[in-house]
Amino acid sequence: MGRLICLSNRIPTGANPSGGLVVALGDVLSETGGIWIGTSGEIAEKPDTCLREIEGGPFKRFCFDLTEEEQENYYAGYSNSVLWPLFHGRTDLMEIHQDYLNTYKQVNRRIAKLIAPMIQPDDRIWVHDFHLLPLAYELRVLGLQNPIGFFLHTPFPGPISMQALPNGREICQWLSNYDLVGLQAERDVRACLASMVEIGEGSDLGNGFIHLSPRQCRIAAFPIGIDTAEFTELAEREIAKLPSGILKPNRNLMIGVDRLDYSKGVPHRFRAFGEFLERHEEWHRHVSLLQISPPTREGVQAYDDIREETEHLSGRINGQYADIQWAPIRFINRPIPREVLAGLYRAAQVALVTPLMDGMNLVAKEFVAAQNPDDPGVLILSQFAGAAEQMTEALLVNPHDTEQMATSMLTALMMSRGERRERHRALLDGLTRQDVHWWSNAFLTALG
Ligand code: ADP
Repeated sequence: MGRLICLSNRIPTGANPSGGLVVALGDVLSETGGIWIGTSGEIAEKPDTCLREIEGGPFKRFCFDLTEEEQENYYAGYSNSVLWPLFHGRTDLMEIHQDYLNTYKQVNRRIAKLIAPMIQPDDRIWVHDFHLLPLAYELRVLGLQNPIGFFLHTPFPGPISMQALPNGREICQWLSNYDLVGLQAERDVRACLASMVEIGEGSDLGNGFIHLSPRQCRIAAFPIGIDTAEFTELAEREIAKLPSGILKPNRNLMIGVDRLDYSKGVPHRFRAFGEFLERHEEWHRHVSLLQISPPTREGVQAYDDIREETEHLSGRINGQYADIQWAPIRFINRPIPREVLAGLYRAAQVALVTPLMDGMNLVAKEFVAAQNPDDPGVLILSQFAGAAEQMTEALLVNPHDTEQMATSMLTALMMSRGERRERHRALLDGLTRQDVHWWSNAFLTALG
């Protein structure tokens, strides 16, 4: 078997690399003598002309630095201020600048030139996420014939959104240079096929195959999973280590865990919790919402705005309802160690996972894996998370419908133990069958 060559924007640089993708790909990378390549996270004065090997670890890793201008235009610019909002249904937040696009293409061309000399004819290449859409195209220009797969961790937009992008057609052409394009959900496959036909002017050959001259590619859903068994064990072990103040008798804990991103619907969640408190005085002092949201992409205007909006809303709700023994919302703007999160998930009665748009949402899966099967908590899940296609036994909600969300909070808090156990068993079965190992296997088998 040939090697697996894996590319992602950031590479896990530590001596013991960790994270979902490392778990998913680590075994195949070490078994095939494969390589992982990505940016180092450091800024260089001039563009690197060769890759740097990262010492140690279970598989080979190579990295390169971005320049200040590349970081601004390729990463913060085209990736995070054009593609991210577009792919999350927020065309209104796109910042279209020719410089962003030029640098984005340049960086992808540079990466192709850096890696092409390392590629052997029987290698398979797996490219991850929206930072690297043109990479297969650039590698084909250099003459590479290898199987190249792409996995998009975000949603994919349909033709109406794609029309808002001046180079929508070019994106479809880039994608057609992959042999396999993996997406999170069936809704993304439908949107992508429609965009490839309407915007890219490709022909739909059926069964997910698109012909876009001169190439043909396959588009299919591979919903990403987590390391389910490992996460259950972690939560079992860690709940005992939580500070005693967290688990108060007669006090129910609802938990929300999301990067502070406008796609996650945190303001909508706070408003719905406010509505719930307004309707149900009997629950005052008996329930609190712990929202853990580390800021990301600071300095980008839309992220500064979401921070202000959520701080304002949580302050207002606390101002209105808190008393000397109780604050309804605890809003933490800091990352929390993974093991503490696992314990908190298990301690919570309800999780609020209510994004306005999300590729998958791993928090929903982690929460379910963390529960005690005898007395599990309830997952309230947005219909707009990719996870909703698989996790139909959650309480599915429309995050725009404040009243429905408030009603679901009551349903979750009042749900009988029998019903909680039944729903949890079905959800956990799904997560066990389609875990992260299943995901990488399914994708690589399809890539061939
Ligand atoms: P996204 O990739 O858009 O951030 P996901 O829900 O798919 O959303 O994945 C988020 C990951 O980051 C999860 O594994 C989650 O546990 C982790 N995470 C989210 N918030 C925090 C936090 N405050 N501290 C530590 N880890 C977090």
